Amino acid sequence: MSQALLKASGIGVRFGGLKALDGIDYAVGERELSCIIGPNGAGKSTFLNVLTGTLRPSQGSVLFAGTSITGLGLNRIARLGVARKFQIPSVFPSLSVEENLDVARWGTASAARSTKELLELVQLDRVAGKLAGELAHGQKQWLEIGMAIAIGPKLLLLDEPTAGMTPQETLATAELLLRLKGEFSIVAVEHDIRFVRALDCETLVLHQGRKLRSGPFREIEADETVRNVYLGR
Ligand code: ADP
Ligand code: MG
Repeated sequence: MSQALLKASGIGVRFGGLKALDGIDYAVGERELSCIIGPNGAGKSTFLNVLTGTLRPSQGSVLFAGTSITGLGLNRIARLGVARKFQIPSVFPSLSVEENLDVARWGTASAARSTKELLELVQLDRVAGKLAGELAHGQKQWLEIGMAIAIGPKLLLLDEPTAGMTPQETLATAELLLRLKGEFSIVAVEHDIRFVRALDCETLVLHQGRKLRSGPFREIEADETVRNVYLGR
């Protein structure tokens, strides 16, 4: 890997008596596409919360471009160029698709794309005038990805971007991320193995708050331990 854009070291998170994360080391290179997988409750969303500064870990540190962002908070991290898409789509339901993208672009000096380009990229140009609240679930997820991209991020983190999508929408979302690959770094937390397979990404497998394995997805998929705890179920 070239110099890491994001580097987390020794991350531990406790919720009362529960060790939600235990000694996780993780790094994402410039323009690298990285996936985090694991069964429900493995600690994926908690880890993403740590990576985006939303949650201060009990142990460890997070560096972004060499600067500590540990527990800094989502707003300050966003200004550094970190964009996040949450597990549940959060769009402005009473604004149109186009207006949602306009809002996301406001005040971003680094906006890499016009609203029109964003609409085409996330394939919502035909419903640009529709109220976001009236979109189908998959389209809402895409709109939110568009809003995250709108700020011209250096790093995009997505929490289960294909949750609730049809198999076709899931593959289309993988294709979208592959189109964006190489433009900025992407971290995709996913439960859907078909999606991760389509992305063929560097993969971290979490299991009960620990790093089970990490490596290229093809190696991960062939790993017996991973198959036993996760893939083979
Ligand atoms: P995943 O996203 O992999 O499904 P989570 O990171 O959401 O897993 O959760 C990991 C573990 O931490 C689970 O056992 C969950 O119940 C617990 N957990 C998550 N958030 C909290 C919280 N705010 N308070 C207490 N326990 C939590
Ligand atoms: Mg989760």
